[in-house]
Amino acid sequence: MSDDLLARLKSYEGCPAAVARTGKDPVNAPMIRHWCEALGDTNPAYTGPDAVAPPTMLQVWTMGGLTGHDTRTQAYDELLALLDESGCTSVVATDCEQEYVRPLRPGDEITFDTVIESVSARKTTKLGTGHFVTTRTELRVGPDLVGIHRFRILKYAPARRPEKKPPRPRPVVNRDNAGFWKGVEQHKLLIQRCTACATLRFPWLPGCASCGAPDWDTVEATGEGTVYSYVVMHHPPFPAFDPPYAVALIELAEGVRMISNVIGTPYEKVRIGMPVRLEFQSYDDELVLPVFRVAEEAAV
Ligand SMILES: [Zn+2]
Repeated sequence: MSDDLLARLKSYEGCPAAVARTGKDPVNAPMIRHWCEALGDTNPAYTGPDAVAPPTMLQVWTMGGLTGHDTRTQAYDELLALLDESGCTSVVATDCEQEYVRPLRPGDEITFDTVIESVSARKTTKLGTGHFVTTRTELRVGPDLVGIHRFRILKYAPARRPEKKPPRPRPVVNRDNAGFWKGVEQHKLLIQRCTACATLRFPWLPGCASCGAPDWDTVEATGEGTVYSYVVMHHPPFPAFDPPYAVALIELAEGVRMISNVIGTPYEKVRIGMPVRLEFQSYDDELVLPVFRVAEEAAV
């Protein structure tokens, strides 16, 4: 069955993907300038009356822009549809290779043809299993070949994600912070207090940063606080978490600050200065963490 599919995919090798297309704009100075600005390329060859276009802009002169390509061939549409039908519904561009035959200059009118150069056997990658499709575009000015652009995509069936989400990471409990986690077990947020100078400290430390004394007791936080600062995590995705989510630095009413999650409002509504209130949230049979819920009047 899959051999049959491969034979059908391979039958498109050599078929045209685009025929006698014209670049939407001739090679031109504004696009060259924008490209050089974006890349920080100050090569003097790309400015002035004798300017040439950066060779790596080759593909630019064939791109369809936001309105896309209107005249893709039936053969290329069929090939992509066949891949879709076989379950390879996702696509990612993997690499390109370019050959430069002669420099392009403002005013050059580009025409181009694209052929389907190759379709690979089924390959398994980290993203999933699928087929690499390589197209070769030949660019011309008048009758002259000026460059070749090979472009490779992977059409693939996305790899299935692990079904079971790993548990949220456990806190590291040690001699210096064990008292804090004991408090959390009892749904108390305990702040250390130096018994010599009464300075509050958080996170927990073995000694007072203010006077150096080692002895301490605790005060229980009232649980009132405000968002002092925050970030929204999008990337990288940690398997135990569902990005995006807000991670906030909460300033407690007592004056110390701690990092926690803000709940009760969408991540994009979290704001500096928002009043929040302590809650203990259970994540699984073993893990309870202090989090902060946005006060109702601020959550709208
Ligand atoms: Zn102290």
